[in-house]
Amino acid sequence: MVKPAIEIKDVSFSYSDFSTRQALDQVKLTIKAGSYVGIVGHTGSGKSTLVSLIDGLIRPTKGTIRVGSVVVGASSSAQELSRLRRHVGYVFQFPEQQLFAENVETDIAFGPTNLGWSAAKVKQAVHDALDLVGLPQTLKSRSPFSLSGGQMRRVAIAGVLAMRPAILILDEPTAGLDAMATHQLMTNIAHLHAQGTTILLITHQMDQVAQYADQVVVMNHGHLVKAAPPQVIFADPNFLVANHLNMPAAVQINHQLGRAGVTLPPTMSMTALADQLVTRLRGRQIE
Ligand code: ADP
Repeated sequence: MVKPAIEIKDVSFSYSDFSTRQALDQVKLTIKAGSYVGIVGHTGSGKSTLVSLIDGLIRPTKGTIRVGSVVVGASSSAQELSRLRRHVGYVFQFPEQQLFAENVETDIAFGPTNLGWSAAKVKQAVHDALDLVGLPQTLKSRSPFSLSGGQMRRVAIAGVLAMRPAILILDEPTAGLDAMATHQLMTNIAHLHAQGTTILLITHQMDQVAQYADQVVVMNHGHLVKAAPPQVIFADPNFLVANHLNMPAAVQINHQLGRAGVTLPPTMSMTALADQLVTRLRGRQIE
C-alpha cells in the first residue's frame, strides 16, 4: 500500500462564525509520507487546531486537506472526515486520562473492535501494539489503573497504535514523565518512525525536535511562519526569539562557548558538542 502524504492547501479555520480571529490563517504545508515532523510554537499559536484538521476532528473553514487520496474541505460530510481519520492516530495530551477498561487488553482492543475487525485480528493487534510500546504481554490482564504513570501512558498510546495508523500525531507525549520514561517513549516513537510511520510531534521540548525531527513546522498566531529542517530553524537565534522558541541545549551552549571565544562547528547534539570540545582541548593540550 502506498503510504499517504499530507497536503494542506490554503487552510483557514475559525472556531466561531462570529469571531474575526482565525485560529489558523491561510496555512500551506506538504508533509511527505514517512517524515518526522516537529510542530512548535507558543501556546495558542494553532498547533492543536492544525493536527485536529489533519485528523478530521474539525473541517476547515476555507481550503482543503488531503491525506492520501482523501480530500476534505468546508463542505465535507462527517463520513468523509471519518475516512481521513482512518489513516491517522491522534494521541492527545495526557492520554492515560482516557483509560477506562478493567484490564489492559480490553482497553487496547477498544479501537480495533470499533473498526469491525475479527476477534483474531483484534487479538493480534493488541499483541503487536504492546510490543510497539515496549510493554510485556503479561500486562494484558492487569488493571491499567494499577500501572505506573509511564506504563499507563504507553497503554493509552498502544490503544491508538493498535488501529495501525500510517500517520501518528502525538501532543506533548512526554509531559509529566520522568527522564527514564521519556527516553523509553521517545525511543519507541523513533522505532515506529523507522518502520515507516509518519510522526507529527507537538512539543515545547526543542531538544526532542533537534534529536528526532527531519522537518520543523513553526506556528505563530495562527500562521505557519516556517517549515524547514531543524538545522535551519535552530541556526537563527533572532527567528527563535521572535517565535518564542528556546534553543536546543547543545545550540545554546555552543553559542555561549562562541561568546567566550571558543568557536566550534554548529551542532544540535550534546554528544557531538562534547566530542568537539574534547578534541579542541586535547589540541591545545589543556587537561
Ligand atoms: P496551540 O495548540 O498552539 O496551543 P490551539 O490550536 O489550541 O493552539 O489554539 C489556537 C487558537 O484557537 C487560540 O487562540 C485558542 O484560544 C483558540 N481555540 C482553541 N480551541 C478553541 C475552542 N475549542 N474554542 C474557541 N477557541 C479555541
